Amino acid sequence: MTNEKKKVAVPGELLGVEEEYVPGNNVYVEDGELYSNTYGAVDLDSQNKKIGVTAENKVAIPELGDIVEGVIASAKEDSCSVTIVAIKGKKPLSGNFSGVLHVSQVAKSYVNTIFDAVNLNDRILAKVMTSWAPYQLSTADDDLGVIYATCTRCGEELVFKRGGLFCMRDKFFERKKISRSYLLKEV
Ligand SMILES: [Zn+2]
Repeated sequence: MTNEKKKVAVPGELLGVEEEYVPGNNVYVEDGELYSNTYGAVDLDSQNKKIGVTAENKVAIPELGDIVEGVIASAKEDSCSVTIVAIKGKKPLSGNFSGVLHVSQVAKSYVNTIFDAVNLNDRILAKVMTSWAPYQLSTADDDLGVIYATCTRCGEELVFKRGGLFCMRDKFFERKKISRSYLLKEV
């Protein structure tokens, strides 16, 4: 036995392969790979080569239909990765969760690339579309989308003005999928 700090698994997290371990509690096998079906501490019984997860019920985890607040962590043309920082109406998160926003899920209308809707470090509201990590997100509803963003040219906070997000310094509008709850409005 060691006193090593236990690793925490999220639903859908890959824990190992069948050649290495047999599945223990809360672990399922798919194509020879072992995944956690819950959030909790990973139990590794190295003597019996068995891996399981002890479910932790006292923490909030993202679930299907939840509205989450997140920050764009990385982005490419067709999708971006979102760090989930809070779930509306739930206890504070104790782990790190990330979601994926695909360009097809950004708006009700067609969006050419992800950069027409969000950019790095934008703060967004999004709906959780899957029960498993990495959580698929959607910002299509009117309440969802960018709630806070800074100018990609100068870093100034963007202000909601005449239906768009405007940089006062550059006198320029940035294209975004804006939430109805955008935080800074023109006064
Ligand atoms: Zn600017």
